[in-house]
Amino acid sequence: ATKAKSSKAASSFALGLPGAVEGQVVTRFPPEPSGYLHIGHTKAAILNQYFAAMYKGKLLIRFDDTNPAKEKAQFETTILEDLQLLDIKGDSTSHTSDYFKELHEYCVQLLKSGKGYADDTDQMQMRQERMDGIASKRRDSPVEDNLKIFEQMTSGDPAAQGWCIRAKISVDDPNKALRDPVVYRMNVQPHHRTGDKWKVYPTYDFACPIVDSMEGVTHALRTNEYRDRNPQYEWMQEALGLRKTTIWDFSRVNFVYTLLSKRKLLWFVQQNFVQGWDDPRFPTVRGIRRRGLTVEALKQYMLSQGPSQATIMLEWDGIWALNKKIIDPIAPRYWAVEKKDLVKVTLEGQSGVETKVQPLHKKNPDVGEKTVVYGPEIYLDQEDGASFEDNEEITLMDWGNAILKTKTKTASGTIDSIVMTLHLEGDFKKTKKKITWLAASSDAHPLVPVTLIDYDYLISKKKLEEDDDVKDFVTPQTEFRTPSFSDANILKVKKGDIIQFERKGYYICDRAAEEGKEAEFVKIPDGKAASLA
Ligand code: ATP
Ligand code: MG
Ligand code: MG
Repeated sequence: ATKAKSSKAASSFALGLPGAVEGQVVTRFPPEPSGYLHIGHTKAAILNQYFAAMYKGKLLIRFDDTNPAKEKAQFETTILEDLQLLDIKGDSTSHTSDYFKELHEYCVQLLKSGKGYADDTDQMQMRQERMDGIASKRRDSPVEDNLKIFEQMTSGDPAAQGWCIRAKISVDDPNKALRDPVVYRMNVQPHHRTGDKWKVYPTYDFACPIVDSMEGVTHALRTNEYRDRNPQYEWMQEALGLRKTTIWDFSRVNFVYTLLSKRKLLWFVQQNFVQGWDDPRFPTVRGIRRRGLTVEALKQYMLSQGPSQATIMLEWDGIWALNKKIIDPIAPRYWAVEKKDLVKVTLEGQSGVETKVQPLHKKNPDVGEKTVVYGPEIYLDQEDGASFEDNEEITLMDWGNAILKTKTKTASGTIDSIVMTLHLEGDFKKTKKKITWLAASSDAHPLVPVTLIDYDYLISKKKLEEDDDVKDFVTPQTEFRTPSFSDANILKVKKGDIIQFERKGYYICDRAAEEGKEAEFVKIPDGKAASLA
């Protein structure tokens, strides 16, 4: 009876859930309100939403708040906001703590039916006995004694300190999860929702199967590290005569160079290595959204993970490459030039300043239009200017060809200024270089300062091991800021908009240009390093 029954259930997402009936499926996402959601949680949330929608059923959001020591009301708000960022909305929201009374009654029922007992074996010894398959000295205590102790625990009686309630399942089952697990503990700490009403709290293993059954959950999706505990979940429902739930398990996701532990992420926040929980370097929902990962890409990616049961270490390139496919056809194109060592070009053949309307996306007219300024003086990136050879003909994008006449260098060897002659009859197909540029700043058409920001992984090791100290693997510099100029078109871009600075990459607007504040753009990785690209 110990073998996990659900091992075959997760054969494929497309095949759906076993025994699912349209209109009757109820799934649930059960976050613990102890921190912000991260990309790992999104897999669980997305799968639950996906199956609820697939069967026109319901998705419940349930805060799993059975541990008063760790949970805070504030995190309930932030988790609901995180879900909103993922476009996930439950049909209802509840708390495990809404059921504390019923859970308590079920524990009494368990004791009355002789399927549970009170135990005061100390933790270390209990662990050892469970390892060795040895029965607790209290295993066969009479029902009345067990009930009396549970009552004492419930009233917070100091005499019951150190006692817990255990389910009487097995002493020596090969599946250690079945060796009389603890179902209730005393804890006099106040709970963030129920205050000091309760002095005893159910364990997750006890509460989850009961509340799933009570709330009408038909399919309980769980990460498969709980697989050993599936028979225990089933035992609880059976022992208490509850309606059964189908467990469907899926693998956890992990990403290279990424920490998915709230505790370790908190450490980065406390050390001021990041700006906060929404830092674009963070794997939190807030962080990845701020970095420019779309909900669409995240959903497609998680659903494409398929039925593999192994906990996988994923490369970020795959998800970013998918994201790029989604943003590329719709991201408006703008131009920017780096401030540092900017190259001034005098263009012979262009007398005055003029403007022309150009598409924001050459292949997608729906994206809109921008106004491009043309003038006798333009700016280029140092890298471009420095690459031009004598008499080389290049193409100024959205304009035409030009031929290099002279280059002037500074004492340090960087290119300072260039003179070129427009050669608009020239064939752009024959040039090697298609260059982005900006008309020099003028009173009529001032350039707009923008900062382009790129980030590196926070940790320098692909996969941190359990005994690795995070401190030893902190990447020394992870933020790279490039002060640049763009043109007035960029003033229309709003915070959260995804654009492309042509020849530089995709960016998400992290701060729009405002009075006194420069616009900031965060680079969106495009998965180029991937073999996929
Ligand atoms: P953490 O230790 O990071 O807080 P957790 O599992 O304790 O993770 P919960 O709030 O209990 O966090 O998780 C809510 C749901 O998200 C659970 O169904 C859990 O299994 C799932 N989940 C958490 N981390 C991952 C992950 N890395 N991959 C897939 N699912 C995950
Ligand atoms: Mg946790
Ligand atoms: Mg958990």
